[in-house]
Parts: sequence; C-alpha cells; structure tokens
Amino acid sequence: MEVFTAEILSPVRSSVSPSADGIDVSAVEHARRLRLLLVEDNPADVELELLTLQKDGFDVSGDVAQTAEEFTTRIRSAHYDLILADYNLPQWRGTETLEILCRENLDIPLIIVTGYLGEEKAVDYIKQGATDCVLKDRLARLPVAVRRALAEKRLRDQRRQTEEELAQKVAELARSNAELEQFAYVASHDLQEPLRMIANYTQLLAERYRGKLDAQADKYIDYSVGGATRMQALIQDLLKFSRVGRQEIERRTTDCRVVVEQAMKNLQAAIQESGAVVKWNGLPVVMADPAQLAQVFQNLIANAIKFHGPQTPLIQIDSEKKGDDWVLTVSDNGIGIPTENWLDIFVIFRRLHTRVEYSGNGIGLSICKKIIERHGGKIWIEAQPNPGSCFKFTLPTDPGSHAVQGAQA
Ligand code: ADP
Repeated sequence: MEVFTAEILSPVRSSVSPSADGIDVSAVEHARRLRLLLVEDNPADVELELLTLQKDGFDVSGDVAQTAEEFTTRIRSAHYDLILADYNLPQWRGTETLEILCRENLDIPLIIVTGYLGEEKAVDYIKQGATDCVLKDRLARLPVAVRRALAEKRLRDQRRQTEEELAQKVAELARSNAELEQFAYVASHDLQEPLRMIANYTQLLAERYRGKLDAQADKYIDYSVGGATRMQALIQDLLKFSRVGRQEIERRTTDCRVVVEQAMKNLQAAIQESGAVVKWNGLPVVMADPAQLAQVFQNLIANAIKFHGPQTPLIQIDSEKKGDDWVLTVSDNGIGIPTENWLDIFVIFRRLHTRVEYSGNGIGLSICKKIIERHGGKIWIEAQPNPGSCFKFTLPTDPGSHAVQGAQA
C-alpha cells in the first residue's frame, strides 16, 4: 500500500464554464484540497494523474489501493473526495470499486482512468455509477472531469440534506399534531366531569333561589347556568372532533346511496319540519368508512336545512368521476356563504352567525373536513349559478364503483 502527498506545483488556473449537462463546474473551488484514492498499479500513472490535477490548481493528497481488501479498508478508515480507478489491474478489476462503494453505502465520486475503453463499456460504467471515464492518453481532460464529479456530488449532498430536512419537518409536524390531538382529547375528556358538577350545581342554585333573591342575583344565576351549559356543549363538540381523529377508519365497500339514506333517517325530524326535499343523481359505491361518510352527508344536509332562505330547502346530491377520484356535490338553495369565508368556515368553532340567528357551535364542517382528509380526499365550496351553497368533496375511486339512481323527499 503506497501513501503519497504530491509536491505543490505552481497552480495553473484555467477558466471553467458550465459543462454540457448544465452543471456549473466553476462552482467547485479552483485550488481546493482534494483527497484522492487511486486504484492503480502503475506508479508512473499515479504521478501523472496527480501532476495533471496539480497543474490545474488542485492541492492533492491521498492513497493508492491495488486490491479489493486494500480498497475496502481505505474507504472504511478515511474520507476521500474522489476515486480514480483503472479498470484493469492484474490482481483486481478496478470497476468492482463501484460494487464495493454500493455495498458500503458510500457516495464517493468515481472516475475510471484507463488506457483503453470501448464506448459501450464506458456507457456501461457510467450507468453503474461512475461519474466519467478518462483515457490515460487524454489526461488533459481529467481536471474538468474531476470538477464535474465534485460539482455533481455537491448537488447530490445538497439534495440529500434538503430531503432529510424535509423528512424531519414532516416527522416533527406529525408528532406535534399527534400531541395536539392527544391534548385536545385529554383536556376535553377530563374537563367534562368538573363541568358537569358546575352545570348541575348552578342549575340547582337556579331552581332553588331564582325569584328569592334580588333581580341582579337572578341575572347572575341565569348567566352562570347559560355559561356552564354552553361550555358543556363546546367541550362535548371538541371531544367529538378529537374522537374523529383518533378513530380507526374502517374502509369498506360503501354505497353512498345507503349512506345518504341513513343520514336522512337521522335528520327525519328536521326534514319533516322544514319540508326539505333531498334529491340525488347517480351515487357511487366507494371504499370508505360508512359511519364516517354518513356523518359527512348528515352534517352537510343538516346545514343545508338549517341555513335555508325563504324557500323550502331543496338539496341536490351529485357525483362525478374525475381521474382517480369521485367528486361528490351537496348543493342547496339556502342563504349562501360569502366567498371570503369559503376557507375559514372549515375551521373548528368558526361560525358566520350568532346562536340566536342559527343554532350550532361551528363543529360540523370541521368534522367533515377531518373525515374527508383522513379518507385521502379534500372538501371545498364552489360557486354555483343559483343562489345557495355548493359543497364538494372527493374520495379516491374504487375500481368496483358503480352509480345508482334515486330520489327521496
Ligand atoms: P354550525 O352549523 O354549528 O354553525 P358548521 O361547522 O356546520 O357549524 O358550519 C360553520 C358555518 O358555516 C355555519 O355557522 C354557517 O355560517 C356556514 N354554513 C355551513 N353550511 C352552510 C350552508 N349550507 N349554507 C349557508 N351557510 C352555511
């Protein structure tokens, strides 16, 4: 095993422009230190290669390896910027360096430097992972090949680092989401009991002492009862919301028509009271959690009934296959939603009206969003020609999907 440090020769600077494949090789420092591993049995060739690089401004040092064992030991024990490998040594084929590098999971640029190499072989080596092939009688090309190899390596390192950072950020986000979910669940779950006490006892106070103290006291009691009841409702909604995120999705072949009918059954009283008409056209069979999908339809239909205008609520449900998705639409003839609120009404507890105008806590749409996104889809509002609102959501298609017709008032 031979160790060498080349003498520093006066650097000859050459201007380097971007290579044919667009890599800016000038980005590689001109007179940078270069630690090389040479797979070479001929000391004269070693010297020539070093000299060529030095003349071009590289400050080179490194080692020589002549067998697979030597090579493996070297790359395991030291850091090399570059490998120059002759592909045909008497005791070893230099190109096996590529296999060893791969096995050792090391990304060190490798240039084949050899006396003769057919074009086909050269392409083959580059396909296997060599950066370039340089003929020994054309060594003047070596510095450009080296710069290009180093520039490519730098790009690979940058990309790897960006990918690692991204993966880390995604993992952090997932962890913090899980923690938030856990927090919301535990907080809303554990707050229920003390809240129940407060609500019960303020209720008791109200029953016992309303009208027995002065008017001011009655007002305070009413405020307390109202506040406690409202907080109970909010906590229960928060718990509902966080349960949706914790529940397993039990994906099954689900007929949307059956699911819509189930949702309508649950809304029977509101439908009868309002005289709402629900119509649909060709609802598909999808892969989804039927109970969760029913919840989505129920929330959307309930809103369409609740936020009706002067006319009898008319709700239309449609579906359409687009690429890999089913797009489902629930539209109504109600009061409509201002365009500027098309995004924020999906946020938990966001409402556009007071509770006096319309009942509710602002949880329904956030639950829809969570369910749809957990199914791999998205939900949004779209403009429609007639007054009212038009909600759309996607679900990934199931190859066995088919549409059925129906209508019910
Ligand atoms: P809630 O119905 O309890 O207010 P949601 O999360 O279901 O909560 O809805 C949030 C808000 O979005 C509602 O308060 C309402 O302002 C608006 N909204 C939802 N659906 C409709 C609809 N079909 N028509 C008009 N406004 C709607």
